[in-house]
Amino acid sequence: MSKNGIIFGKFYPLHIGHVDFIQRASGFVDNLYIFVCSDNERDKKLFEESKMKKMPTIKDRIRFVEKTFKHQKNIKVIHMAEDGIPFYPNGWKLWSERVQEILLTNNIKIDIIFTNETQDIQNYKDNFLTLPNFEKSFNKNLEIKVIDVKRNNFHISATEIRKNPYENWFFIPKYVREFFVLKVAIIGSEHSGKTNLTHKLANYYNTTYVKEYKKEYVKEELQNKIENLQYDDYSNIAYEHNRRILKSIKNADKLTFIDTDFYSLQTFSIIQNEEKHPVIEDFVKHTNFDVLIYIEKESNIQNTTNNYNKMSKFDNILQSLLKKNNQKFMKLSYKNSISLTKNYIKSIDIINNYLKTK
Ligand code: NAD
Repeated sequence: MSKNGIIFGKFYPLHIGHVDFIQRASGFVDNLYIFVCSDNERDKKLFEESKMKKMPTIKDRIRFVEKTFKHQKNIKVIHMAEDGIPFYPNGWKLWSERVQEILLTNNIKIDIIFTNETQDIQNYKDNFLTLPNFEKSFNKNLEIKVIDVKRNNFHISATEIRKNPYENWFFIPKYVREFFVLKVAIIGSEHSGKTNLTHKLANYYNTTYVKEYKKEYVKEELQNKIENLQYDDYSNIAYEHNRRILKSIKNADKLTFIDTDFYSLQTFSIIQNEEKHPVIEDFVKHTNFDVLIYIEKESNIQNTTNNYNKMSKFDNILQSLLKKNNQKFMKLSYKNSISLTKNYIKSIDIINNYLKTK
């Protein structure tokens, strides 16, 4: 007969303390069931009290656990919805009945409960072992085992992470970090030092960045002739740029830097095709950049060529798109090469302030 263990938790979000606890517990059993518990009302409140930039869905929380333990086959994840049950610790009876329902549905009989909450030990026994037909879902000699009550291995709680994920970055597991990574886009006029700034910031924060894919596409597919860009190219560029952003997020450390965003690509499409491109519009709507740094070439630059007129049209359209979408951005200006360093220092201030308030 195989031995089955269980751990209950909100894992909101999963942290390294949970991970270590689960890995240690898994060594005592053949199967370890992780019940990821949710309650819409409570979870929304926890989010509102937090400093997280977006609320993880229950599917996100389940995914964090599943991905983290994907190579440990004896660890199995099950969702438990607690909606309608009085909040802990006032709903033990109803809560235990719901646990039993799930165990019966999944044909699981539990021999051992792992917890690091000493106040729950007696409650587990009193409530589970007095359920009608409890022996179908629990061993009558149910064991309760604590592993690291004092958090000696990792002194962290999910509350602290929700309060400030970036200060507690060390405790956030790899697959949870992806959720918290902040996307900083550097946008604006051509030849205003966007690429230079993107590289410098990625170096400063020791993290990943994404180059402007349009440039690479034009070089490789169109032998550098931007005038040969046509309507259908825009969706190829948007998809690949997005794929690179997602890849960059996976390996990032708190932040990732992106040279130009989808508003800029849409601006090019409007100038060249005289219409918005629907694929780009979809990316504009569904990609949320946390910080947008807009570098504008100062209009007093003496430039009488057509190029200048084009750039100013570009800025006008881009800014009106941003405004129409209520997209906030921080504007920096570019005058000459000295602006490169000024903008670098200003951007660091902007980002550090953003990190402090998140
Ligand atoms: P949690 O995600 O905070 O913690 C999960 C487990 O990890 C716990 O055993 C905890 O002690 C342990 N842990 C946390 N930080 C640790 C660290 N740094 N090192 C080692 N271990 C650590 O979840 P939780 O709040 O304990 O989850 C219990 C769930 O059970 C909740 O969803 C709660 O609603 C539910 N519950 C409800 C009732 C009720 O009356 N409604 C009764 C019992 C349980």
